[in-house]
Amino acid sequence: MNLLGNLSWTGVKKYLKRDNRIILPLGATEEHGPHLGLGTDYYEAEAIAHRVSEATGVITAPTLNYGMSLSLMGFPGTLSLSPKTLMAVLEDILRSFYQHGFRRVMIVNGHGGNTASITSTIQTIAPELPGQSVKLFEWWKDAEAYRVVIETMGEQAGSHASFGETALMLAIHPDAVKLENLTGNDAPMKNSREMLTIKTFSQQYPDGIIGLDPGNATPKAGEAVLKKSVEICVRELEDW
Ligand SMILES: [Zn+2]
Repeated sequence: MNLLGNLSWTGVKKYLKRDNRIILPLGATEEHGPHLGLGTDYYEAEAIAHRVSEATGVITAPTLNYGMSLSLMGFPGTLSLSPKTLMAVLEDILRSFYQHGFRRVMIVNGHGGNTASITSTIQTIAPELPGQSVKLFEWWKDAEAYRVVIETMGEQAGSHASFGETALMLAIHPDAVKLENLTGNDAPMKNSREMLTIKTFSQQYPDGIIGLDPGNATPKAGEAVLKKSVEICVRELEDW
């Protein structure tokens, strides 16, 4: 894979003579139930980004391991940026890319709480950076990738820290998965229009999992989702 952190500035200069694409993985440091490590979202985004970089040779920037996780601050260990801070960080990173000549940026986001800040940043900064094109990939929102989630895990796939994420983590970072910590106190996903906040999240999902107990998640299912996500991103980069 082609990681920015492993290249020298002369290596980047040479790359920019033939290519102007770059991948930026975004994650979060936040609770993912009693059974998954707090790095889940950045591990997922990074695993997809690194495999895509391996397949295409496109440079991957260092992962942003912090995101907007304010609704999860009721759980110890969660570290959150405010939306304003996240936007300011993203603006500075996109400006830096632009200054050096990166004109096509693929953001691989691993955390739903980041989405609003990402789209707001892109809209805000677009007039300042003419010619910079940004694509956003989020595995759980992509219809094609999500079909694989349903096919391999059924409608039970759930949401935050449930089947999909547990399966992905079993495939990429099994050392950060402790299925024996699951309590069996299922709190099924609620179809409520009420926004989740630090208070309502802990009330509705006291163990930090949105969806059913993901004890049956398998690495095979996670690998299938990962493979499909990589395939989509590679295609998006090659068609660009
Ligand atoms: Zn997550």
